[in-house]
Amino acid sequence: MKALDELTFDNRFARLGDAFSTHVLPEPLDEPRLVVASSAAMALLDLDPAVAETPVFAELFSGHKLWAEAEPRAMVYSGHQFGGYTPQLGDGRGLLLGEVYNAAGEHWDLHLKGAGMTPYSRMGDGRAVLRSSIREFLASEALHALGIPSSRALCVVGSSTPVWREKQERGAMVLRLAHSHIRFGHFEYFYYTKKPEQQAELAEHVLNLHYPECREQPEPYLAMFREIVERNAEMIAKWQAYGFCHGVMNTDNMSILGITFDFGPFAFLDDFDAHFICNHSDHEGRYSFSNQVPIGQWNLSALAQALTPFISVDALKEALGLYLPLYQAHYLDLMRRRLGLTTAEEDDQKLVERLLKLMQNSGVDYTLFFRRLGDEPAALAVARLRDDFVDLAGFDAWAELYKARVARDGDYNEVQRRERMHAVNPLYILRNYLAQNAIAAAESGDYSEVRRLHEVLSKPFEEQPGMEQYAQRPPDWGKHLEISCSS
Ligand code: AMP
Ligand code: MG
Repeated sequence: MKALDELTFDNRFARLGDAFSTHVLPEPLDEPRLVVASSAAMALLDLDPAVAETPVFAELFSGHKLWAEAEPRAMVYSGHQFGGYTPQLGDGRGLLLGEVYNAAGEHWDLHLKGAGMTPYSRMGDGRAVLRSSIREFLASEALHALGIPSSRALCVVGSSTPVWREKQERGAMVLRLAHSHIRFGHFEYFYYTKKPEQQAELAEHVLNLHYPECREQPEPYLAMFREIVERNAEMIAKWQAYGFCHGVMNTDNMSILGITFDFGPFAFLDDFDAHFICNHSDHEGRYSFSNQVPIGQWNLSALAQALTPFISVDALKEALGLYLPLYQAHYLDLMRRRLGLTTAEEDDQKLVERLLKLMQNSGVDYTLFFRRLGDEPAALAVARLRDDFVDLAGFDAWAELYKARVARDGDYNEVQRRERMHAVNPLYILRNYLAQNAIAAAESGDYSEVRRLHEVLSKPFEEQPGMEQYAQRPPDWGKHLEISCSS
């Protein structure tokens, strides 16, 4: 276990130089105080969880102190936002403080969000409010606990610094961890600004540090792109299987590591709704829940365009062609498991689609349905779940198909079925209204609810005594909350 001053830095991205990022010092927040820390994320840096409670911890993650070896840099990138190209973006309020490696030799970027203005702030103030910092923290750690690849979050530090959004709020910073903060938009930036040398340098950097196994392949860049396609297909399959809606799938928010990245007005589905739009400024539903699948491919083709200097168009097209079949395979595999099935049959896709249609028509809670389906033997479970459906005849017909399918799945033991299903069907997810309750308490200075919710969500598959209130459908006020896009 390490103390805070024992972290070892190796700032590989900073060494790429000024064409890639700009040196900027964080601008401190007033009266910093720890809101919440993730001991699991601290373990990634070999940090002793007790150090989170020391004053220097809040000082380091609010811009007051800096390690001597840290080299804070704002990264430059661009990206396609809602389908249109924005030529220059960049870390407008985030800073890559440096890269730390742990005892296992893993490198982690320390990225501080809300750290003040940078050359890329455009019209923004460089700040992040407490509300959005808490949401990013809770979501990163909750997704990770569900087995969905995501950037991680070490802590949120709050302050008394006023920040203006629709109303006056308080500034906060969230410390994000990832093996890299390089986005699709990094490649797009150097491609569209016609800087082939830097573009090549960036590609070498990513290949060497993040896809070294692709070096062994006859066409290393193509192998790397293929791997990015595969990882994105798998990540988005998991979003769809667990009902996660990202909300702002712009190419500057897509990680080259295939991890969930940059959390804004995201939401988990409460009632199943394929057409759900979590971002209320997304008037056309470009990033609606079901559109995430084709948008994943759209984003990958934007990256492919930026890689045309290295890879032939035909090879890129072929690699892009892998996306949908891979997505389908991962998605179906997860949904089979969510249904408790251990074998594959031709018609399983239809079984899933029919169920989702019924859930959509009746507004059935997406998370609780699967959890309850595993609580009891199949016949008993469907009999009990029947009440949640409006189209009873439709549900009965589905239930008959399901019971027959379960019977064909082979000999199984009820205890094992329950264990197997509960291991993939969470009881606790980050419902918007739960986040909202925790935020309201935190805004009035009480951080206990954020901390409790974080704890509960760190073991989403495990029933936790006394935590029943976190496993409920939302109350009326908590349904369809409009989450502010300002952050
Ligand atoms: P986002 O929608 O959060 O992914 O942000 C899009 C771009 O706007 C990124 O380049 C951000 O760094 C930048 N940005 C967002 N909010 C602010 C802010 N308050 N101050 C400066 N830049 C910001
Ligand atoms: Mg972003």
